[in-house]
Amino acid sequence: MRILVTGGAGFIGSHLCDRLLADGHEVVAMDNLITGTADNIAHLAGNRRFKFIFHDVTEYIYVPGPLDVVMHLASPASPVDFARIPIQILKVGSLGTHNTLGLALAKGARYLLASTSEVYGDPLVHPQPESYWGNVNPIGVRGVYDEAKRFAESITMAYHRVHGVDTRIIRIFNTYGPRMRLNDGRVVPNFIGQALRGEPLTVYGDGSQTRSFCFVSDLIEGMIRLLMSGETQPVNIGNPTEVTILAFAEMINALTGNRAGIVFKPLPEDDPRVRRPDITRARTILGWEPQVPVEVGLEHTIAYFRAKM
Ligand code: NAD
Ligand code: UDP
Repeated sequence: MRILVTGGAGFIGSHLCDRLLADGHEVVAMDNLITGTADNIAHLAGNRRFKFIFHDVTEYIYVPGPLDVVMHLASPASPVDFARIPIQILKVGSLGTHNTLGLALAKGARYLLASTSEVYGDPLVHPQPESYWGNVNPIGVRGVYDEAKRFAESITMAYHRVHGVDTRIIRIFNTYGPRMRLNDGRVVPNFIGQALRGEPLTVYGDGSQTRSFCFVSDLIEGMIRLLMSGETQPVNIGNPTEVTILAFAEMINALTGNRAGIVFKPLPEDDPRVRRPDITRARTILGWEPQVPVEVGLEHTIAYFRAKM
């Protein structure tokens, strides 16, 4: 198949390009590099089944030739960016999703939207099943990302219902691995960067908030299975193993041998107290569940950052 990946120079997008090429597909990656980097796809430069288009998907999209699939991953995803580039986030989730859906309709392509656990906001139901409608502050600093993704899901379902576009919605929970930016601001690159520099890890709040971390190879497998399935309703993909951020910091200090300990910093506004996916639907519909234990995934990620520093 010939597949467009928006956000293809990003962390998850570049791993997706690798996987699609390995599966024998032709890949067109589109990215404006606002949070991604050409380094993530530099190794694909000589591949005749790979093409990169530098473009902002909030502007009209032109892709010559046929497309069988459009996978829309373009969007900044770090909470640090919610305050830094909020309007770009709102535009890529709204205008960018509209443009990519229009492209899929015009090409007769299947469409996959990379949505997020953030549609659940600061959840009042735990763990989160897809049937939960969420608890989002529309005017808070996180609202720009959460509401853009909620709009993106709505317009994806509207294109499905009105135009019959064959759509998929993956709700991605915290995912980590090589090719995250060291200065991305998310917890995994922050903690590993600090640990490798011998600095104390910055735990926000008292560290009792929880997250569930999925290694990128597991995420990509779930995404491909969803794409190839006939499922048009949202599916959570994430690792159900839940940890407190304080325990996670201690784990990273232990794995890196960092003795500088932990410092506590203020908790960001609307930081979700808990997050863990209910993956019953992924298990039953896709036969998917994560395979990589967090210690193993972190070893790969630490090795990547060590080489980068
Ligand atoms: P990332 O920042 O590494 O990748 C996003 C890519 O999109 C970047 O390369 C960026 O330059 C590109 N981009 C942003 N706006 C664009 C625009 N207007 N036009 C073209 N390209 C644009 O982040 P990531 O973690 O790889 O996230 C990829 C997708 O997965 C995002 O849609 C994100 O919301 C979603 N997601 C990620 C996670 C996670 O834990 N990593 C969790 C939930 C959802
Ligand atoms: N966090 C932290 N220290 C950091 C970065 C993040 O304690 O240096 C916390 C953050 O407050 C949140 C969790 O780690 O509770 C995960 O944050 P991340 O930025 O990775 O994304 P989120 O899951 O909140 O979208």
